[in-house]
Amino acid sequence: MRKLIIAIDCDDVLIDSSARIVERYNAKYGTSIDASHMYREDLDWGAGSHEAAIERMNTLLEEDRILDSLIPSEETISAVRALASQHELHLVTGRQTYLEPSTRALLDTYFSGCFTSIEHTNYIASAASLEPRRSKGEVCAQLRADILIDDHVSHGKSVLSHGVREVLLFGDYAWNKTDDDIPGITRCHNWQEVLQNVETIGSEI
Ligand SMILES: [Mg+2]
Repeated sequence: MRKLIIAIDCDDVLIDSSARIVERYNAKYGTSIDASHMYREDLDWGAGSHEAAIERMNTLLEEDRILDSLIPSEETISAVRALASQHELHLVTGRQTYLEPSTRALLDTYFSGCFTSIEHTNYIASAASLEPRRSKGEVCAQLRADILIDDHVSHGKSVLSHGVREVLLFGDYAWNKTDDDIPGITRCHNWQEVLQNVETIGSEI
């Protein structure tokens, strides 16, 4: 099997971030957001505007250090290590650049030596943010990625339009339910299915 270049998302792929973020957001701001609201740009999360919601989110992530307390499952750790032993892995996250210390700490603690690079794309950034927002398509094209593993359908479509061969849509989440059969996107409910699909893709290239 050829050594593949695989881009892997961080939140809700390596760790279960959204459930914890929503829980803490509701506790802090007295809202009743649920996971189906994740990534809905037409919702204001009870903050008055989408922009204000992003500011609240940034405050929450900075003050509560939520992302630093999340631990990957044993299944995730062993699957990523297995992939890293055969392929070239890159972490491609929608996180903003200011969260890089948290991202690096996660990788250093649980996935040491597994990733060749870490790319922060600033997907959910406020209009005032000075950090450049890059699409995952753009980043994966630069990396010459063969595969993206991500929980977000729009990132999947983005990379397919930039020449990535396959997307493994990870997990069964409220925000990634789709009845559409999108060529190039294969849903994987767990890491075992990811490993099987990577093996199949590798044998076909
Ligand atoms: Mg994600």
